[in-house]
Amino acid sequence: MEIFDLTIHEMHEKLLAKELSSVEATRALLARIESVDDRVNAYITVTPETALAEAEAADRRIAAGDAALLTGIPVGLKDIFVTKGIRTTCGSKMLENFVPPYDGTAVARLKAQGAVIVGKLNQDEFAMGSSTESSYFGATKNPWNLEVTPGGSSGGSAAAIAAREATATLGTDTGGSIRQPASHCGCVGLKPTYGRVSRYGVIAYASSLDQVGPVTRDVADAAIMLGAVAGYDPLDSTSVDTPVPDYLAGLGAGVKGLKIGLPEQYFIEGLDPDVKRSMDEAIALYKSLGAEIRAVSLPHTEYAVATYYLIATAEASSNLARYDGVRFGHRSEAAKGLAEMYAKSRAEGFGPEVKRRIMLGTYALSSGYYDAYYLKAQKVRTLIQQDFLNAFREVDLLLTPVAPTPPFRIGEKLADPLQMYLSDIFTIPVNLAGTCAMSLPAGFCKDGLPIGLQLIGKPFGEEAILSAAYAFERETEWHKRNAAL
Ligand code: GLN
Repeated sequence: MEIFDLTIHEMHEKLLAKELSSVEATRALLARIESVDDRVNAYITVTPETALAEAEAADRRIAAGDAALLTGIPVGLKDIFVTKGIRTTCGSKMLENFVPPYDGTAVARLKAQGAVIVGKLNQDEFAMGSSTESSYFGATKNPWNLEVTPGGSSGGSAAAIAAREATATLGTDTGGSIRQPASHCGCVGLKPTYGRVSRYGVIAYASSLDQVGPVTRDVADAAIMLGAVAGYDPLDSTSVDTPVPDYLAGLGAGVKGLKIGLPEQYFIEGLDPDVKRSMDEAIALYKSLGAEIRAVSLPHTEYAVATYYLIATAEASSNLARYDGVRFGHRSEAAKGLAEMYAKSRAEGFGPEVKRRIMLGTYALSSGYYDAYYLKAQKVRTLIQQDFLNAFREVDLLLTPVAPTPPFRIGEKLADPLQMYLSDIFTIPVNLAGTCAMSLPAGFCKDGLPIGLQLIGKPFGEEAILSAAYAFERETEWHKRNAAL
């Protein structure tokens, strides 16, 4: 086994046993990036100098007997997290040269544990997309097949794990952007409950939906990463002040007597047969482990995608108003006068998908249409949320596919934005409901591409998801397969 193949918990043990230093581990990951990333394009920016300095500091901390779980572990960050002194682009030409003056809270918490930041990961521009093709820095490739997309928008965060270019990564999930790429790349991806992790220092897309979470090689690593970043933050008024459980300690709880619901709206005609087969196998495994499987209904599911694309675009149009060429970001050279400077800076700085979202959102919020679109979408959002709360009166967890199909080919959905939007049909409702969900490796399609399983939990029910996922992982080998690069 190579150093870059290790999980966080494996590497942590080797670091404590002095079989490995953080400098060696960091060098191994940087060398891996060097040898494969020209093919994968998972990274926008690699930071070898600061990483090696952080690794040296981590080694001193380990020698002093003061190591936390993440001390010395090489981690990659989606380029949506602002990082002090490190360029943060959000996948956009608009922020091509933006170097933030501070670290966001999630990053600061990783650093406080002594994690080593190896670089900033590729993503769809401003996290708008499901394939990482809308990045100004070129598409990321799926390490399982370089002609296929890794999913998105946190495609770099998932591809880096599948290609073993980081030991763990952070992404963000507004409508599926952690879970869908994790599914497509054969990794574990966790979207925590809205309010569980601070969004301070995360470039805003749709503020009522955005949430930070980890992409990792296994479930224990997801527990470690969540434990590191979760918890109240006075700098984010939407972060919730409830205690953070010891996620790692709870992993072995098992699934005996656990009630798992299958939402009928997620097991529809037209589900890809390989995805269907993987779900059937997972359900049978959970049954054999003593879980009780029940059918449940989430009756407003069919409205979720439309509701999401009104709310997300409305919030995006407001959030992205700050990119006007004045304080930071791209400023047009060509403009004469202030109004033209605003218009040209935005016209030049944003790509086509971002422009489409800003126009849709501005329309939905405009006077005369606000009630018909935005307000109505908010009401439907409440109905969708109630669907989940009703289902959780009957069951402890929900089990669904992450995506209706296996990963798709680069370019396949570019001409048809609606087809792209539909790839998040099973992940979007969770964000609208504000609850938590995980994607975990559950099989492969006939072309050898990964298929993920989604476990959806009650609000702040991350522990139940993690222990159910752990029980599944212990009985399966899917997470142990590696993409041949
Ligand atoms: N694909 C969805 C969108 O484009 C979700 C993206 C996300 O979760 N950031 O909005």
